[in-house]
Amino acid sequence: MDHCRQCNSTLKSDEKECWGCGAGVPEQNSRPSFNERFRKVVKVTFLMFAGLTVASLFVESLSFVKCISGLLVLFLVKNSADYMAEAKKG
Ligand SMILES: [Zn+2]
Repeated sequence: MDHCRQCNSTLKSDEKECWGCGAGVPEQNSRPSFNERFRKVVKVTFLMFAGLTVASLFVESLSFVKCISGLLVLFLVKNSADYMAEAKKG
């Protein structure tokens, strides 16, 4: 929960302007943070590996073991990245 810097009204996190005094609310999440981008990259790579793992069941040149271990590692990375992001939010 945020408070207006001018009049100390309670603000919803998605409010851009204070309802009490009309002061602009400084945006905290206007730029995606490094962690945010990192999570996106991990998510995309995770989905890619998920697709590869499924494909490796049908394509002989793809190693299923390699794909599934990559998928597992990414799953752990993704989980800890999510956990860190949640912990930051408090
Ligand atoms: Zn205000």
